[in-house]
Amino acid sequence: MRSTEREFISTVPGRDEQPEAMALLCGVQKSYFLDDVPVHVIKGVDLLIRPAHFTVLLGPSGSGKTTLLNMIGCIDRTDGGTVQVAACRVDQLSDDALSDFRARHIGFIFQNFNLLPVLSAYENVEYPLILAGASARIRGERVPRLLEAVGLADKARNLPGQLSGGQRQRVAIARALARKPKLVIADEPTANLDSRAGASILALMRRMQKRYRISFIFSSHDRDVIRAADDTIFIKDGLIRAIRRKGAGAPDR
Ligand code: ADP
Ligand code: MG
Repeated sequence: MRSTEREFISTVPGRDEQPEAMALLCGVQKSYFLDDVPVHVIKGVDLLIRPAHFTVLLGPSGSGKTTLLNMIGCIDRTDGGTVQVAACRVDQLSDDALSDFRARHIGFIFQNFNLLPVLSAYENVEYPLILAGASARIRGERVPRLLEAVGLADKARNLPGQLSGGQRQRVAIARALARKPKLVIADEPTANLDSRAGASILALMRRMQKRYRISFIFSSHDRDVIRAADDTIFIKDGLIRAIRRKGAGAPDR
């Protein structure tokens, strides 16, 4: 484990207690095979994601951001090392249990919004609640509140095709929050937006992170986002190169 991570963990009271981590990765590795030749994409990552913080994973294209987020988000499995999310060793779960864990505890926001085109903004936000078996009463309370929170109360009936990119991403943020996840993961959520819409989405994610006191991790290749984040994790060529935690002194490298 990296020295910064060890120091952070050792400040948690109670010697034998688990550190209070939203996610904890130890020695995580991942390879893809191209023509039977393994390509090492994540090369041994130790990382702690703090609960109720806004974290950015910053690195150039191809550095392994999506691969790493997919392992934290229980979308993909590691080839080695351990992954703990909300005190659960998710690398030890069966495929079914992993899907269930993901649906219950983790919300996702994607670069391409991934909204269902035939559903209205309202229905897109409601959809994960229907899948979860939420009652009509809960849906009727929660969906309008979320649309209001992301500033789209007046666009509830619009289809995604009748919304701007920034508005689509607002719908995706509301949808990600619908099941009250502990952790929200956003993979380059501003990459398909102009700089003004991107800045507004960044500010909205920050507001939602604080309002619901959740852990929020998003990836970016744009250094300008560092200002908005509590914690910045610098990744390059499948390795964490530095971690900067606001309020935790100087970066370690
Ligand atoms: P980033 O999100 O930082 O752009 P990725 O995690 O998508 O990086 O990819 C990291 C590296 O892994 C890249 O070199 C990419 O080409 C490679 N890669 C990603 N997915 C696959 C895959 N399914 N098969 C083979 N190589 C992959
Ligand atoms: Mg990516």
